[in-house]
Amino acid sequence: MDNTLAPAAKSSADFEQILQLCKQHLSKGRAKISDVFGTDLEVSSKGAWITTSNGTQYLNAGGYGVFIHGARHPHVEQAVIQQIQTNPVSSRILLEPTAALAAEALIRIAPKGLRHVHFAGSGAEATEAAIKLCRTLGRTRLITTKNGYHGKTMGALSVTANDVYQSPFQPLLGDIDCVEFGDLNAMEDALKQGSKAAVIIEPIQGEGGVRIPPCGYLKAVKALCVKYDALLILDEIQTGMGRLGRWWGADFEQVTPDIMLCGKGLSGGIVPVSAMVATPDVFKAFNRDPFIHTSTFSGAPIAMAAVKAAIEAIENDDLTTKATALGKQIKEGLEHTVRHNCAHLVKEVRGIGLLIGVELHSPGLAGALIAELIERRLIVNYSLNAGAVLRFTPSAVMSQSDVVFLLEAFESACIALAEQYPSLNSVGVI
Ligand code: PLP
Repeated sequence: MDNTLAPAAKSSADFEQILQLCKQHLSKGRAKISDVFGTDLEVSSKGAWITTSNGTQYLNAGGYGVFIHGARHPHVEQAVIQQIQTNPVSSRILLEPTAALAAEALIRIAPKGLRHVHFAGSGAEATEAAIKLCRTLGRTRLITTKNGYHGKTMGALSVTANDVYQSPFQPLLGDIDCVEFGDLNAMEDALKQGSKAAVIIEPIQGEGGVRIPPCGYLKAVKALCVKYDALLILDEIQTGMGRLGRWWGADFEQVTPDIMLCGKGLSGGIVPVSAMVATPDVFKAFNRDPFIHTSTFSGAPIAMAAVKAAIEAIENDDLTTKATALGKQIKEGLEHTVRHNCAHLVKEVRGIGLLIGVELHSPGLAGALIAELIERRLIVNYSLNAGAVLRFTPSAVMSQSDVVFLLEAFESACIALAEQYPSLNSVGVI
């Protein structure tokens, strides 16, 4: 694996110019965030590292869970370049090979029993397709979980349980129950209330702040779905593609959902792509009529080449095993640092594989720690449905020196945070 740092790419634009354009044509709010997080432009990336226009290099432990392969994995990059140079987007009339080969690769690694694939562009679109597929089977009622995150298109937003994102767009889809994540009694109560339901759930809530349910929860939810004749949609958009150290969160409990959603790492970090994978029984309507749910660029060869190569790259480089080992090392390192430097500011460090959350006592503290980390050239994620949790989603291609860099940056940032806030009183949360 070539893990050398990306060369400092020259950018013709400077930070101030881009900030102004962002304010004028994109979003003032977006510009404000960037202003807080430094005065430099991200211009290139390679492996675990990002390079800015002035040549500074940042370790990428963020990227919203996309970069399990790191940036520009050579196998994926080559496959995509080759596809661009041959047939990037197809006529959609003639049969072309890449989509079928990508589907075959995805089914090969998917939980047993899932046989059909519908490709899309974003995670939200995969959720949307699943909601529509459920409707073809009369499942108009949806059960989601508190703090669950499934995307922000209208259907997906309806099951993304956060008032901040939902309220400006009401009314959303009706007939939705929202139950506590991890609470089987609540799930059973909701399922009892009526037939023709579908449950949508993540194996571990990512944007919800790396919330890990009790052991056996997923298997028990599946059993409840069978008992009450409900469909199970498992959203593996953030947890899948090896991030947890197995292909899918479902693999920890040998669960086969009726529908599984994939995205993020499915792209190999190169071409936006997502997928909805389903059992033959559930996929019937889409199987019969290929026009019932379509999108111009769905299954475009350029994205399909990326999917097949992304799966092969994880297999060839054994990235799932690496995710387990690196995740353990990083989690233990973070825990050690917290214990010795800022235990009064942190509620918990938790995670599996390379999905690790650090929950602080307030969103303000999480924001302050993210800023300290960025100052130390380490990029992490905030959590869209859990403001007090910062999330590490680094790549599985990190070297040992990258891990040392990550842990040293975290330690130094925690020491600075503890100096700023020597007690919880000083934070103003108690
Ligand atoms: N589902 C999960 C579990 C996610 O984490 C995300 C995004 O973070 C989505 C769905 C939505 O994906 P996208 O942002 O690509 O629409």
